[in-house]
Amino acid sequence: MANELDVISGNSAIATGKPTFSLSSLNLAQNCPAVVVAPTGSKLSKYPFPKIKFEEGRRCRVAILTEEVMMIKLHYHPEVGYILCDGGACCRYCDKVSIKYCYPCVMYETDNSGRILSNKPDMRLLVLGGEMYDQISLLSEIGGSITGMDLLFSCTSTQYQKCQVTQAGPATWVSNEEMVRYITEYMKSNGSKIIDAMGRTYTAEELAAKLDPGTITDQKCISADALSDIYKV
Ligand SMILES: [Zn+2]
Repeated sequence: MANELDVISGNSAIATGKPTFSLSSLNLAQNCPAVVVAPTGSKLSKYPFPKIKFEEGRRCRVAILTEEVMMIKLHYHPEVGYILCDGGACCRYCDKVSIKYCYPCVMYETDNSGRILSNKPDMRLLVLGGEMYDQISLLSEIGGSITGMDLLFSCTSTQYQKCQVTQAGPATWVSNEEMVRYITEYMKSNGSKIIDAMGRTYTAEELAAKLDPGTITDQKCISADALSDIYKV
């Protein structure tokens, strides 16, 4: 029976006399793409490829998935947040522009030494400043490719997102059928959202509406009572 909560049978909660339910038969995700049903403990990311945040003293094991790099010009405006620079109106509102080098990648679940603990790939966006990008470029040059290897990022500064990057053997996911299937499927269905986590572009009108108080038309909702007062009905 579709669209009814399943009572889970054979569940340990049943054995203790407490009924429990399953959401899976409701097809919630199909009816509303905003809903994701998963086991408790799972977490939902705002973007399909969340940025990797490095933490001092922690190692991140990562495999880059594309040979090409996405180079992005980025503004930061305190009232708008990150703005992808398209050379248009954004440059009139923000003077500073920074350049980031980005790759879609898979981040492995590892212990502190970088040893892989599970087959569950975590799809991420690797965002690099010039200094770390130089390290990646060098590794790519030496190896003739950047996608064939696992990389180990040892963070030396959380604040400045600085890491030492070293090669950690051939790319693990490539020789794991389960991971290959998952990653291929994920890239196919989410590829177009690869840089969502970096910000977005804004038209001149959108920026004006956000930042030029004079151009915003005041559209307060007026209650029926207030309206009656105004028109004396
Ligand atoms: Zn700009």
